[in-house]
Amino acid sequence: MAKKPTDETKGIQAKDRYFLHPWEDVTSIGAEARTVIAKGDGIHITDSDGNRLIDGPGGMWCVNVGHGREEIVEAVAAQMRDLTYFSPWSATAPPAAILAERLAGLAPGDLNNVFFTTGGSTAVDSALRFAFFYNNCLGRPDKKHIISRVGAYHGSTHLAASCSGKMLEKANMDMDEDRVHLIPNPNPALRPASMSLEDICDQKVADLENKILELGPDKVAAFIAEPVLASGGVIIPPEGYYRRCHELCRKHDVLFIADEVVTAFGRLGHYFASRDVFGVEPDMLTTAKGLTSGYVPMGALFISDRLMADIKAAGNEPKGFFSGFTYSGHPVAAAAALANLDIFERDALLEHVRNVAPHFEKRLQELADLPMVRDIRVKGLMAGVECCLNPEEPDDERDMNFLLEVDEICQDNGLLLRPVYSSAVLSPPLTITTTQIDALVGILKQGLETAWERRISGPL
Ligand code: PMP
Repeated sequence: MAKKPTDETKGIQAKDRYFLHPWEDVTSIGAEARTVIAKGDGIHITDSDGNRLIDGPGGMWCVNVGHGREEIVEAVAAQMRDLTYFSPWSATAPPAAILAERLAGLAPGDLNNVFFTTGGSTAVDSALRFAFFYNNCLGRPDKKHIISRVGAYHGSTHLAASCSGKMLEKANMDMDEDRVHLIPNPNPALRPASMSLEDICDQKVADLENKILELGPDKVAAFIAEPVLASGGVIIPPEGYYRRCHELCRKHDVLFIADEVVTAFGRLGHYFASRDVFGVEPDMLTTAKGLTSGYVPMGALFISDRLMADIKAAGNEPKGFFSGFTYSGHPVAAAAALANLDIFERDALLEHVRNVAPHFEKRLQELADLPMVRDIRVKGLMAGVECCLNPEEPDDERDMNFLLEVDEICQDNGLLLRPVYSSAVLSPPLTITTTQIDALVGILKQGLETAWERRISGPL
């Protein structure tokens, strides 16, 4: 049972009134007394009242090597002692150069040009801006439209948010609507009973081609896609979808941007899922989160040699990609990323993920028989457990409130969840063991059952 909030916790919660949190309802700022997380170790976090919880969402899909890694702390401190910062425009610093070379060596295909950013949104924004820049350099000023998907999340800067397909998050924000086009996402669970997985794959691939043809291939700059839609509820495409979309993009001369902000650095058991899980070598690839395991902010956009060569061959002016950030390749962030990659290698973390992922899937699938569970989607160490209290009358708001209640019960029992619409999404630190997976699933099951019992004894 959770401990009662101490005065110290209440004091922090009072100060938190001044923190406008991301995605907060501005009309009720400060109304919610949030859990105060004070410490982290391994897959666990401890709140300010001393309750120890499994970090189900892994921060926000990012604490891949787990909390409290001394090696990263040491690397960051050592780098700060040597050099905290220098302008990335006029000079370079050892960690950024070393990291760029190391990442280029790990990345798929000819993605050898690493453009460092401050996080995932700025990596996506930079990729989209590069797509515009590329077509301008190639003398194709009309080739500027972007195709994205319903339910996709690509970030919170203006252009990245415009390309997102989560409507709630786009409301009241005056998005760049004219150049962004959403096609349905490939959620196999939404197909009619008469449709096979092959049929739904054909249909969703055709959606992309139809949209390219409708807009005109000479007008479409890029298709952007997460290999697995993460914040959209862990939506896993049918076999072949991602590869066939890539082939279509090649056929119509449309750039394929893989948004691997969540899936890169081990979440699916490989450094990059595009190539090693889905067999695709994208034109551009965006990363963040697991790059530093969230210890300090950093993102990276990978651009292919082919695009660079095309710009050079076109010979038009200007060729400068006049875009960047004060903190591009920040030495301290780069040092954290290098130490993070060292941990991946030393602990054989990718292999570990590939070993434990089948157990994670098997244990979660055991929840499928619970009456409120509608769908369970698992890939690598990411999962979405979708709930629906009454399939005859689906109601997103009611189901989300149910999951918020499940989250509360789970927190009392030692697990932090992340409800996203009607799904509880999970992306624990990659170091999680099979015993810890059993504990996580056990608490989740109990939370679902307890919240359900409360509902059936009252109104749905
Ligand atoms: N792309 C994807 C797929 C993401 O999941 C996220 C963040 N959840 C972003 C981009 C944006 O990254 P950031 O929050 O670091 O800006």
